[in-house]
Amino acid sequence: MNGKDKISKINLPTSFQAEGVNVFLIHNDTLTLVDAGQNVKGAWDAFTAQLKSLGYQVKDIQQIILTHSHVDHTGLVHYFDHDVKLIGHPSSERWLHPTSSFLEQHDFFFQDFFHQIGVPPHIAQPYLAYKHRQVVSNAQRSLDIYVEEGAEIPGLPQWMALHTIGHAQGHLSLFHRQDKILIGGDVLLPHISPNPIIEPPLHRGEEREKPQLQMNETLRRLLSFSIQRVLPGHGEDILNPNELIQHRLERQHERAMQVREWLMEELMTIFEVCQRLFPKSYQSTFGFTLFETVGQIDYLLSHQFITEEQIKSGLNMEGAW
Ligand SMILES: [Zn+2]
Repeated sequence: MNGKDKISKINLPTSFQAEGVNVFLIHNDTLTLVDAGQNVKGAWDAFTAQLKSLGYQVKDIQQIILTHSHVDHTGLVHYFDHDVKLIGHPSSERWLHPTSSFLEQHDFFFQDFFHQIGVPPHIAQPYLAYKHRQVVSNAQRSLDIYVEEGAEIPGLPQWMALHTIGHAQGHLSLFHRQDKILIGGDVLLPHISPNPIIEPPLHRGEEREKPQLQMNETLRRLLSFSIQRVLPGHGEDILNPNELIQHRLERQHERAMQVREWLMEELMTIFEVCQRLFPKSYQSTFGFTLFETVGQIDYLLSHQFITEEQIKSGLNMEGAW
């Protein structure tokens, strides 16, 4: 590892993962923090204590790069002064600093989407309210600098930004060209496959993106970078990234094929597929299980393993929409 580019991992608590979230400090001429944890009890104290043991204070940090806009990666941003530059992909901006028109578009999109795929209102409405609150409670701070695919990271000449789209539309990973290290955010995690979270299209009325397909494409692209080690947003370092990527792609295909078998036998809504895929957890982790299911359907449709006619629309179903 280049002496100027030492990396330290700081692990912080979150509200939803036992293993917490990893943020990284890149010791360089520009002291850089990658990601900013979740704003939960004890997280800021844990952060400052670990920073101190590395020999730094909060005021030493000059810039923060966000791999993506999810609350477990951005929550502590508001503890920092505004002269600490906030860097991220432009598609993260609307989540970090949501405008009222984005919130309106967000709710409208999901309302319509859930209806189409057959989610009953008594499940869709509380989830949407929760999701709305989560967006409102995000960083509430705009990005100062946008970086996009292939860009050098400001202040870090050895590092290149990769737009590792899928888990989030604005997802970035940081690639160290010489050492072949990837600070991956949630692009590749040791124990789970990241959720293909659906986002409203950038402009109202456009077709939504298909995050599972984007994620597969991203993973396949990463295979060509000869990455030696991935420092993920959750869990321990990944030392065999290419092997794990192959495994993830195969597992996803197998899961989709299982869904295909069911759809060959009967007409189901996407929500019904979700219930069958996740009979125990579809209610307690509704968004995750639903997006995972939509991912399988998008995959099957895009590879023509099924046709649109094999999926039942939710639009004509009972329910007070
Ligand atoms: Zn995460």
